[in-house]
Amino acid sequence: MTAHQQGTTVPYSPPPQSNRLIDNHGRPITYLRLSITDRCNLRCHYCMPEGGADFVPHAEILTFEELERVVRLLSALGVSKVRITGGEPFVRQGCMSFLQRLRGIDTVRSLHVTTNGVETFRYLDDLAALRINGVNLSLDSLDPGRFWQISRRNLLHTVLSTLDGCLKRSLPLKINAVVQEDTEDSEIVALADLARQHPLCLRFIEKMPFSGVWSVRAKSTRSLRQRLHVLFPEMTPLVTNGPSTARLYTLPGYAGQVGVIEGNSRRFCTTCNKIRITPVGMLKACLYDNGVLDLKAMLRRGADDSEITQAVIGAVAQRYRDGMETEEHCARECDPAMASIGG
Ligand code: SAM
Ligand code: SF4
Repeated sequence: MTAHQQGTTVPYSPPPQSNRLIDNHGRPITYLRLSITDRCNLRCHYCMPEGGADFVPHAEILTFEELERVVRLLSALGVSKVRITGGEPFVRQGCMSFLQRLRGIDTVRSLHVTTNGVETFRYLDDLAALRINGVNLSLDSLDPGRFWQISRRNLLHTVLSTLDGCLKRSLPLKINAVVQEDTEDSEIVALADLARQHPLCLRFIEKMPFSGVWSVRAKSTRSLRQRLHVLFPEMTPLVTNGPSTARLYTLPGYAGQVGVIEGNSRRFCTTCNKIRITPVGMLKACLYDNGVLDLKAMLRRGADDSEITQAVIGAVAQRYRDGMETEEHCARECDPAMASIGG
């Protein structure tokens, strides 16, 4: 049993400065989003086409052993927060055991999962036993018809079981809600009310151009933040420590908080501490790049730890300043599906 499972705190010494992953703009990289599958049991319009994205064959997806090795190497470089995502992580068999293996890595100080909640209620006792540091649950509407319209599946009830189960077990919970052009104010107000009733963070997310098909870029009209300020005039900004993608707010009488993630406007790039690994093992230094290092090729040709570590350090040392600059330099034939990246 690891220290995390015992609930004890092991003193943590980060690796010395010279062995830390720091990009060419001086930003320490401490957060990994690890996408373990591109498959999913929903078909959200803004994320993938009805027939699913072009799912990659299983043999092309990193094995759990490969994933664990990469996490160990990155955590030795100072990556202390790991989020498991997808596609839907719980549709991959063995997801829970993999989380347990990651929990055994003491340098991974903070372990999180992002899920759509469709199957997750089955795993909540295990997540609680694991002392998961955070569950991000995606939920765009509390109305069954609207949920079906967005996700093309009639499964709101199972997502709500997960929500309820997380609250009952006091799992640290954030809800992610993508706000689309046609999202009604009433839906936003109903979702925010969850943060009034419960100690959770309800984060409204700007829709981004990652739907897996050709799409017309959304013109930025009134910002999402302005819209929230109109709906909730008493919103007061919370000061957060360290890099954060969300701006957080408190509201009088609320048990939790409300937040906004301005991903499309890319307002948080200056403090970005995040890298991503796709299911096929591409390292992404920015959401908007096309992959900067093929880790799978290195792993499968037998590269040793030091070679992989040096390659990662080299890739991170050539990071673009922000998502706008990355997008200018990295041409894309069509918008990739967010499910193949991990959000
Ligand atoms: N299936 C899991 C889920 O939905 O939580 C994990 C993967 S999903 C790709 C991760 C996050 O990306 C979700 O919160 C989802 O709402 C968000 N997302 C997907 N496509 C998006 C888009 N085009 N714009 C903004 N957020 C998006
Ligand atoms: Fe699946 Fe999550 Fe994409 Fe929806 S947002 S299709 S739940 S991967």
